[in-house]
Amino acid sequence: PYDVLVVGGGPAGASAAIYAARKGLRTGVVAERFGGQVADTLAIENFISVKATEGPKLVAQLEEHVKDYDVDVIDNQRASRLYSDNGNHIELENGATLTAKAVILATGARWREMNVPGEREYRGRGVAYCPHCDGPLFKGKPVAVIGGGNSGIEAAIDLANIVEQVTVLEFADTLRADEVLVRKAQSMANITIIKSAQTTEVLGDGNKVTALAYTDRNTGEQHQLSIAGVFVQIGLVPNTEWLKESGVTLSKFGEIEVDNRGATNVEGVYAAGDATNSAFKQIIIAMGSGATASLGAFDYLIRHGQE
Ligand code: FAD
Repeated sequence: PYDVLVVGGGPAGASAAIYAARKGLRTGVVAERFGGQVADTLAIENFISVKATEGPKLVAQLEEHVKDYDVDVIDNQRASRLYSDNGNHIELENGATLTAKAVILATGARWREMNVPGEREYRGRGVAYCPHCDGPLFKGKPVAVIGGGNSGIEAAIDLANIVEQVTVLEFADTLRADEVLVRKAQSMANITIIKSAQTTEVLGDGNKVTALAYTDRNTGEQHQLSIAGVFVQIGLVPNTEWLKESGVTLSKFGEIEVDNRGATNVEGVYAAGDATNSAFKQIIIAMGSGATASLGAFDYLIRHGQE
C-alpha cells in the first residue's frame, strides 16, 4: 500500500505528490489525464515568476518535476470509488483497487459548456472561461459574457475595466446575481445586459471568434453581436460525482469540503484544488492547496500512520 495516494494529476495533484515524496512517503498519483485543465490552456500569464507560458509546456514541466522523485504515476486511469476501512481504498474503472494510508483527492473541475456550434472549435481562440486568466487578451475589444449569475456579473465588472464593451447574455428573464453586483454592473457605462437571450452559435473567421448569435426568447428574433471574445460563465462543475457514496462531505455545489489543512471529514482523506470549496480556482492556488493537503496528510501519518 501507499503512504499517500493522490487522485488527480493537475497542478494540485502534482504539487501534493512532490511534497509527499519529499517527506520520504511512498507516493502514488493516479490520473485520468496528467496535466488536467492546464493541458487545455493556451496562454498562462499569471503563474507568478513565469511571465508567460503555455499549458502543454507547463504540463511537461509538472510531469518532469514529479518524475524527478520516486513517485508512481499511473496515467490514463479513472477512479470510480473511494471507501475507507483500515486504510483508504481507491477503486479504478479498470477493476483494480489501490490502497493508501492517506488519500489526497485532487480531481479538479470542468467548466460547464454552452454546447452550441463553434464553442469547441474556437476554444482558446476567442471562447474563454476564465476572466482572471484571459481578460487581458481582449484589451480594448468588445466581448460577451454568457450567464447572469454571480460569476457572470463579476466577470462583466472585471472585464469592463479592460475591454472596450461587455455584453452580458442571460437565458432567463431575471439575473441570479446578487443585487449589489447587478447595481455595480448597471452603473458601468460599457456594460450592457440582455435578458431572455439564448445563445445559439459562436461565429468566427476560421481563425478566431468574430461574432455571437442569439435568439430573443420573447420575440423569437435572431440577433448577432460583433465580438472578439466570449466568456462562458454558466458554472464550474467539480469532478466529484464519483465520491457521492464515499462519506466525504460535499457542498451543495458538489465541492469537497476541506479545513485549513486540506482535511476532509473522513480520517486520512485530504483534498486540494478546484475539486474543493476553495474560494478561487487558479493554478497557483491549486498548487498551494496541494502542498497544504500533503503537509496535512504528513502530519496525520506521523501521528496515526504506524502499523
Ligand atoms: P485540474 O487541473 O482540473 O486537474 C484534475 C486532474 O484530475 C486531472 O489530471 C484529471 O484527469 C484528474 N481526474 C479527474 N477525475 C478523475 C477521476 N475520477 N479519476 C482519476 N483522475 C481524475 N488558471 C490560472 O491560474 N491561469 C490561467 O491562465 C488559467 N487558464 C485556464 C484556461 C482554461 C481553458 C481552463 C479550463 C482553466 C484555466 N485556469 C487557469 C484554471 C486552472 O487550470 C485550474 O484552476 C487548475 O488546473 C486546477 O488544478 P487542479 O489540479 O485542482 O485540477
